Amino acid sequence: MIIDFHTHIFPPEIIEQRSRYVREQKWFSRLYGDRNARMSSARGLVEEMDRCGVERAVACGFAWDSFELYVRTNDYIAEAVSRFPDRLIGFANVPPLHPEAPAEIDRCVEMGLKGIGELKPTGQGFSLDEPEKLAPLAEAAARHGLPLLIHISEPVGRYYPGKGFTSPRKAYRFALAFPELKLVYAHWGGGLLFYELLPDVRRELANVYYDCAANPYLYDDEIFALAMQLPIRHKLFFASDYPLLPLDSCLEEVTGAGLDAEQSAALLGGNAEAFLREAGAWS
Ligand SMILES: [Zn+2]
Repeated sequence: MIIDFHTHIFPPEIIEQRSRYVREQKWFSRLYGDRNARMSSARGLVEEMDRCGVERAVACGFAWDSFELYVRTNDYIAEAVSRFPDRLIGFANVPPLHPEAPAEIDRCVEMGLKGIGELKPTGQGFSLDEPEKLAPLAEAAARHGLPLLIHISEPVGRYYPGKGFTSPRKAYRFALAFPELKLVYAHWGGGLLFYELLPDVRRELANVYYDCAANPYLYDDEIFALAMQLPIRHKLFFASDYPLLPLDSCLEEVTGAGLDAEQSAALLGGNAEAFLREAGAWS
């Protein structure tokens, strides 16, 4: 079974009024101001999954400036999950510092959402380096046993839209502050996974997992074979960042990476299924 741990969907009416939101929403304009940047509804995502043989996907919304747009997108994701219950696992998004964020998380859990993310610290105006400010979010996640999917990026290399400034160092600090939270660091955690070769760091990051979202934009595909040799291979999840990239181009990288059958099965779905089942996010 193939599971994509990291995709983004939008309500169709927001896709139709894209130029309005480009004018009004700062982070949205940075990512979707370019007409070539694709957007997808839930139906578009499921059609792509069908086309590429992906059975389940974690569906996330977006990092808006307005609280009302978070609520609308969360409602839409909940509705999408009820339409495609055996295909989509819905994650809620909230601006973590907003006073209403914990209550919105409670509401999303009621609606059947199973995690929080993709949080984008730079786009949402907070820093993982200030964990004390994030305690209300962490408490709400812990109360419901929700995993958090968080955008992390490489502290070196070229800049690109959406990269942000959330380095492995900040991600490490956040994980130490909330060791009980189940954290999934997107985009290989900006490289944090390689520091898990330090035995003490590996113990400290026992609840940290990684996805490979958008890898065709980031690392050489040799990273898959290298990552699967690390002593944390059970913590690595296949992910695309769809619709940023077509699912098949992300899958082809993995199938061409020279992994053995057991490694491929774990990376493409087995690891994520075990994680989601343990988090109560599997139905
Ligand atoms: Zn991301």
